[in-house]
Amino acid sequence: MISTVHNATCTVVISRGQSRNPQKRGLEQGIADEIGKLDGVKVLTIPHLYDLPKTSDSYQQLSQIEGDMVVVSWIFSRAAHWVLDRNGIQGQVGIINLGESEDDDESRAEDGSDDPNLDAELDSTEAAVDRVTDIYPRPERNIYCIDLKHANDPQAFISEIKRILGVGTDDPNRSLPIVGGQLVQVEEQTSRRWYPVIDFSRCTNCMECVDFCLFGVYGVDGTESILVEQPDNCRKGCPACSRVCPANAIIFPQHKAPAIAGGQTDGDEGFKIDLSQLFGAPNKNEDPIETAARERDEQLLLVGRDTIGIDDQLKKRQADLAASPKDGLDRLIDSLDEFDL
Ligand code: SF4
Ligand code: SF4
Repeated sequence: MISTVHNATCTVVISRGQSRNPQKRGLEQGIADEIGKLDGVKVLTIPHLYDLPKTSDSYQQLSQIEGDMVVVSWIFSRAAHWVLDRNGIQGQVGIINLGESEDDDESRAEDGSDDPNLDAELDSTEAAVDRVTDIYPRPERNIYCIDLKHANDPQAFISEIKRILGVGTDDPNRSLPIVGGQLVQVEEQTSRRWYPVIDFSRCTNCMECVDFCLFGVYGVDGTESILVEQPDNCRKGCPACSRVCPANAIIFPQHKAPAIAGGQTDGDEGFKIDLSQLFGAPNKNEDPIETAARERDEQLLLVGRDTIGIDDQLKKRQADLAASPKDGLDRLIDSLDEFDL
């Protein structure tokens, strides 16, 4: 059931969790009730955005929204941004203040990753490799994705959403005109899905994922850009291709390792590395390429196909990629190596 309105100037989207956990439902409802009272704001509640197909009523609703958008969901903010992007809901990464803690600042100071010299180096090297979004820039409107795992208290999210909307500020550029608030709820059936999501602000279109995946998940579009063409061909629980992506651009939003689920390099937080989990390897001493090849073999066996391990092509491609120009993330890791971490 859908009720539609068009006159709100900013939309807050609440993506419901997959379970029936009453605490989670209460958190979502608490935010919707309070934000729904704000004049000028449309609150749109939809099922879990990762499970929804592009043709769903929910995405049809989202595609009609032209301005800025705040999206709260139960996946990492980086994951949510690129799930929306793959479904045609595109924009710039909005800056979120929720989730940054003093501990984060301290740990960055300790590991040297808030070194101003390092920041300058990252700025100067980020341009060294073209990303898909450099070639195909996204629209200028902002999409602010907030991870509901950050807090248990609705008030934390309400305050952050009000900050983003400029509610209570004297700044005329940030205050919303008063046109009347709106509450819309979209109800539709979904089932749980598992597929890769590409962070196009990192992806270099190198095609390693197309060559590595033997299940026909990836393809290319009319401009020869990488595409998750057959998402539901992906093998449930398998994150293998995320380990061979040289740009760390492949996200599995439901994976238990934050590095694979999109939790490490939020656009609003800069580079924020947990080196022990950078590639989400089950054993930190295990080579990520070996892990990926093993995971791919497990899936091949499950469908009755022959295993191939680390074939010569994979070895050669990885060697070629290692020799290609380094990006900011590579250089950050090199710099951290110099700190002997
Ligand atoms: S392997 Fe990574 S960087 Fe290369 S095309 Fe695939 S997603 Fe993009
Ligand atoms: S996880 Fe495995 S099946 Fe899924 S896209 Fe990656 S390589 Fe293909």
